[in-house]
Amino acid sequence: MPSARQTRVVVLGATGSIGSQALEIISRYRGQFELLGAVAGHGTQALQEALRPFPGVAAVVVDPDGPVPAGVQVGGDAACQLAADPRADVVLVAGGGAAALLPTLAALDRPCRLAIATKEVLVMAGELVTAAARRSGAEIVPVDSEHSAIWQCLRGESAQDVARLWLTASGGPFRTAPLTTLADATPEMALAHPNWKMGPKVTVDSATMMNKGLEVIEAHFLFAIPYSRISVVIHPQSAVHSAVEFCDGTMVAQLGVADMRAPIALALSGGRRLPGVVSPLDLAAVGRLEFEEPDPGRFPALGLAREAAVRGGGAPAVLNAANEVAVAAFLRGELRFGEVVEVVSEVTGSYSGAPPTTLEEVLAADAFGRTMAGEMVGQLDRRAATGGGRL
Ligand code: MG
Repeated sequence: MPSARQTRVVVLGATGSIGSQALEIISRYRGQFELLGAVAGHGTQALQEALRPFPGVAAVVVDPDGPVPAGVQVGGDAACQLAADPRADVVLVAGGGAAALLPTLAALDRPCRLAIATKEVLVMAGELVTAAARRSGAEIVPVDSEHSAIWQCLRGESAQDVARLWLTASGGPFRTAPLTTLADATPEMALAHPNWKMGPKVTVDSATMMNKGLEVIEAHFLFAIPYSRISVVIHPQSAVHSAVEFCDGTMVAQLGVADMRAPIALALSGGRRLPGVVSPLDLAAVGRLEFEEPDPGRFPALGLAREAAVRGGGAPAVLNAANEVAVAAFLRGELRFGEVVEVVSEVTGSYSGAPPTTLEEVLAADAFGRTMAGEMVGQLDRRAATGGGRL
């Protein structure tokens, strides 16, 4: 049965892993979706190539890495304007980390559906983002696979019956690696995720398990559940994408293949099931489902993120900013793997600002985290370069 009209979509972060898979879904289900416009962070040519199947749609590059052809707009303001396009039914926020915050808030100025893949936005400014959605009547729907799972498990249930959210974590590439080898793991090793194909930032975050820590904060804001009722369990098969425990002791879990196109399509459609998005999970082929407690000695980032979460105020924004800087430095070869969490811990521990209540104050906490982490990376890198060893 044809729908009344197509769902109009704006994609922020169109050249990243989630963005390009979203464009594939929009192109494959053209009867359902219409692309209105797309934003890329830097890659002008990559954006043009990504938009080839969509002639005539609006294109914005925030900070172009090369010459910009006619018809492509440039800058953060243009990105915010596109995000705020009143014709868009859905704005997908993908990629960009903290840089996605301003266009996210611009989108939430009206009652649209915000499909959020960039967890950093909720981590740094969860209160501001959820308050903006409440004010305008916008709906925030998750794209992150764990949160999409929880969203699906909660459908038709009452909020007061929810006892606990269970986020599953694959454990990443270093779940069973000897602890002594972790400090010097290379970017290549950290980027070899066993189950999921994702962008480099989130893949390194999965290796440290900072990703799961950020996801605990993301879940808190998406589902309005206190931190004491959000748990993490390692599940190496990545078949159970997360679960909800209800007051009667029942647990409901969502299972599926590890393919982001499933949660992307579900978020774009507002929860409607589109036929054949991914192949179904072959349960017999999966064979066994294993679950284990995360080891805090192996994954200190998880406890660090939880601590910042419970502290609240600007602490999660500082944690997130320091982590973005440290991960980028690790990927450039300026930081050892073990130093990523060390930098984040040090920087977050040194923050003592008052809880931010405005966008400017959130951005100040973010800037504090970035500056401090940048300085620390510089010190560690210089010490390594001069052969002085490392902390
Ligand atoms: Mg996830």
